[in-house]
Amino acid sequence: MSTTTVKQPAILPEGYEITNIVVVDEHFNPDDHSEQGVVDKLKAKFKDFKIEVFLANRELFEKLAEGQEPKVMLITCIDSRCNPTMLFGLEPGEAFVVRNVANFVHPYEGQVHNAAVGAAIEFAVTAMDVKHIVVVGHSSCGGINALMELDDFTTGLVANWVKVGLPAKEKVKELYPELPFDEQVSLCEKEAVNVSLKNLLTYPYVKERVKGGGLHIHGMHYNLRHGRLTSWDIVRK
Ligand SMILES: [Zn+2]
Repeated sequence: MSTTTVKQPAILPEGYEITNIVVVDEHFNPDDHSEQGVVDKLKAKFKDFKIEVFLANRELFEKLAEGQEPKVMLITCIDSRCNPTMLFGLEPGEAFVVRNVANFVHPYEGQVHNAAVGAAIEFAVTAMDVKHIVVVGHSSCGGINALMELDDFTTGLVANWVKVGLPAKEKVKELYPELPFDEQVSLCEKEAVNVSLKNLLTYPYVKERVKGGGLHIHGMHYNLRHGRLTSWDIVRK
């Protein structure tokens, strides 16, 4: 076997232990590993990356190891079909990417369960001084579909998460009550992006920088059936 194996300490619940540790590099041989499946494919793909990208761009990766200066932050859905690295041709070091169900930003105040997104925004804006934040919605979004379908948002973590989009749902239902449900969902996917853009402006350091012209926030919607991207900006009147 050409693959290096290592031991590693583990803090795990009683009854669990770490097994099958594999360091994947350019010497990795998938045939050495009996189990097949999607995780093995990830390892094999990492080997391809090591050879075709990492070793072919040593200078870039040595520079990136010293630090990062991304100028843009993307907030996208977890949906497997909405892959920001592929859609926007992102190079390593180029963008912060936060992904969550239906690409929501909750308001700054009372955001206990939004701490992960909030911490990412705080770090990107105050520590890394990103110049642009883009919220990217998409078609056939399960999170927005749940927002539009549900009446009760008290049960389940997804329901509790997407209810922040209720202003978008209510606006669409109010303005377009006669539209078929799937068209209402489509409109809500875009309006929910605007809810997140509005909520971004509740972060004091975001609001201050947008006001001063040092930070710009944008909305996008990716139609994954037609491969079409719609983008828009939010500016102060
Ligand atoms: Zn989605």
